Amino acid sequence: MDGRAAGGGRRKTESGRRLSRMIADGYLDLHRRANEGAFVVWIAIVVPAEIFAGFENVAYAVPESHAALSAGKGVGTVQCQKAEERGYSADLCSYARIDIGTAFDGGKDSPTFGLPRPHLLVSNNNNCSLLVKWFDVYRREWGVPHFIVDVPFCYGPQSDRDTDYIAAQYRDLIREIERLSGQRFDIERVREAVRHSCDAMREWKRFLRAAAHRPSGITVFDSFVQMAPILTARGTPALAEHFRLLADETEGAIADGRYPVPDERYRLLWDNIAPWHQLSGMSSRLAALGVNLIAASYTYCIGSLEGSVQLFPYDGADPLRYLARIQNFSVCPQGLALRFEAMRAAIGTMGVDGVVFASNRSCKVYSIMQMDLLDRVTRECGVPAVMIDVDHADARAYSEEGAFTRIEALLESIDMKRAG
Ligand code: SF4
Repeated sequence: MDGRAAGGGRRKTESGRRLSRMIADGYLDLHRRANEGAFVVWIAIVVPAEIFAGFENVAYAVPESHAALSAGKGVGTVQCQKAEERGYSADLCSYARIDIGTAFDGGKDSPTFGLPRPHLLVSNNNNCSLLVKWFDVYRREWGVPHFIVDVPFCYGPQSDRDTDYIAAQYRDLIREIERLSGQRFDIERVREAVRHSCDAMREWKRFLRAAAHRPSGITVFDSFVQMAPILTARGTPALAEHFRLLADETEGAIADGRYPVPDERYRLLWDNIAPWHQLSGMSSRLAALGVNLIAASYTYCIGSLEGSVQLFPYDGADPLRYLARIQNFSVCPQGLALRFEAMRAAIGTMGVDGVVFASNRSCKVYSIMQMDLLDRVTRECGVPAVMIDVDHADARAYSEEGAFTRIEALLESIDMKRAG
């Protein structure tokens, strides 16, 4: 986290330095293990990586996470263009275009030298169907097997029948990896990994709770940046250790009276994926207006069940069933009622003044219900809201002036509401 001392001035924190090391070491380790003969799996973002801890030598890579990193480092658009030159439409998700652009160009321009070639692809259809088609490009081009986890969409809490159905597919996946890699699987190692993940999520939630303080102890940009290892280091003790440090540090800053936006006048909530190419510019411009984006549905959903912002703890029982139960944690596979319940809880517990719905040109599944959600939030929560246009990873589809004109209109609505 880049903290900002009261009265201004950015401060590099220990958790910020540790995060940079974790990310760099994680990609170096991935390439090293692949070179030394590990069985490499490419997974979609919500495939439970803890399962791979059950094998001696399975390394996993997350193309979506690599795409977000590329966009954050300013090379998202150039990678998108490479995919478009191969005939992939600019209407496809920018994560897919970045990944395809990188993969077929041998990792050139990638901040991590790309990803090592996979032996197996594992996608799922509960975030979106585009993802399945995207991973299938590599099955066709490289002849790599592709395992698809089929997950029912949820309009209410996941049923036991659905949990069993998903867990059964994890068992199929395990058998498939055993067959392809020749490695034996040990469920006890997965149990241990799930415990580490749950410890990490407990600390993550403690860190996010700092947003409830006035002024908030964090900005949403801190949580966007800090979520990276949740995708690439799941199931490790290092992840829990890192978030413990982050939460301690954040609480310490609050106790000392140090806040990221000391003159916080507006506390806003963000709905959608992070605008990776705008983190620094957007955060400074908002802070200058006295605005703190304190939370996001994209980060408060992590570690919770659908429709909730609370931690869903692991009870030590069947780890595959637990992983199946949390399979729909991300916002995309949830119906409107669940999305609204979680948002209403976040608005209430964190004292949110207004909501920024970021209609994401790439992620249709995240964006499709936003107009209905905006309507419910303004009517039922009495909180002003606005819709802006973004793309999470393709900077060409974002207009800063267009977005800020609407955000400033939102601030005026908040002022009018306060004036009664
Ligand atoms: S469209 Fe959305 S859910 Fe699908 S891969 Fe892109 S970002 Fe993920």
